[in-house]
Amino acid sequence: MPVPLLDVNAQNLPLEDELTAAFTEVLHHGRFINGPEVKGLEDEVAAFLKLPHAIGVSSGTDALLLAFMALDFGPGDEVLCPTFTFFATAGTIARTGATPVFVDSCPVSFNIDIEDAKRKVTDKTKAIVPVHLFGQSADMDAVNTFAKEHELRVVEDGAQAIGAAYKGTSSGGLSDFGTFSFFPSKNLGGFGDGGMVVCNDPELEEKARIMRMHGGKPKYYHHVVGGNFRLDTLQAALLLVKLKRYKEYTAARQANAAYYGEKLDELPGVVTADLAHMGSAAAQNEWLDGQAAKLVLPIIIPENTHIWNQYTLRVIGEGQRDALREHLTGLGIGSEIYYPLTMDQQPCFQSLPESSRAHCGVSHQLSGEVLSIPVFPELKPEQRDEVVAAIGGFVGG
Ligand SMILES: *Cc1c(COP(=O)(O)O)cnc(C)c1O
Repeated sequence: MPVPLLDVNAQNLPLEDELTAAFTEVLHHGRFINGPEVKGLEDEVAAFLKLPHAIGVSSGTDALLLAFMALDFGPGDEVLCPTFTFFATAGTIARTGATPVFVDSCPVSFNIDIEDAKRKVTDKTKAIVPVHLFGQSADMDAVNTFAKEHELRVVEDGAQAIGAAYKGTSSGGLSDFGTFSFFPSKNLGGFGDGGMVVCNDPELEEKARIMRMHGGKPKYYHHVVGGNFRLDTLQAALLLVKLKRYKEYTAARQANAAYYGEKLDELPGVVTADLAHMGSAAAQNEWLDGQAAKLVLPIIIPENTHIWNQYTLRVIGEGQRDALREHLTGLGIGSEIYYPLTMDQQPCFQSLPESSRAHCGVSHQLSGEVLSIPVFPELKPEQRDEVVAAIGGFVGG
């Protein structure tokens, strides 16, 4: 049986009647812009995350851009962000006129390495943008302690982490703004583009809400320049149908990840990072060097609730990642490389100052070794077993 990396139909088609009814309702009320379902989704998401304010927006990318515009990022500002992330994190910083400064990642959690951020902060640094990569939070105590020390703004890029938590608080709620995406491959996958901004501060919330509609308040009177960052009523109506099932989707991803963790760990040459050895990035690398591992499994950092947007392996050894990918493809199993190129390696960022692109060695290594395998909620037990058997065949188990 083929095993796709993601099967959106397996999740959406069972909801066809409800989705069609939601569509029909919007068709008939006709309030396609800022209709009642937008407010409905904002309220439901805020309640679900136990955060005070949520603002529906046009995409995860626009969520970041809106947060950055509301915090006045601009020319002359430096903004720290991980180099090992999806392009939107860095692209939106650059679009404000600020200079992205790329920070290396932790070799085990894949998230921003604050020890490296400490090397790169300057008196021009305005903010730090941790990304909760693959569905688990960055080390937010470390981020916020660092940010406080240097008086930095913090925006959490939670595009892959809606419903994830750090020490029990929802991702997105531990900073000035948190941002989410409803891109179809994200955990709360929509029917096109969509996103959400969350925030704790009522003043920032109001500013972002006004800037979502070109910055006009009252309408046609503009004290600030915003944009059109609205979420469609139709998209909100359809997402409300899926939000009701979101806990089940997350539980299924967590069960799949737990199953992989158990079964793959039994294979020869497969290791799971031992938390007792996880000090600095350097210490983690040293530990890994001593393992003679072929594959390293992802782990859950104890402070975190991981929602597994991706289940990402590190495949050790020159050419081995691509060899595993080819092996899986040959067996009809989907996989993907998130991400083959880090931000400091992107052609469009080569004109940035050298200091923006320094010291990203762990991330370069990760981009050569990572491979994400199917973990979507509707994965069938026999499909999971096929993935495990295929990897067993590769490592010789
Ligand atoms: C998907 C993603 C985004 C952008 O979201 P879109 O809705 O596709 O615009 C931003 N950051 C990260 C980390 C993402 O994974």
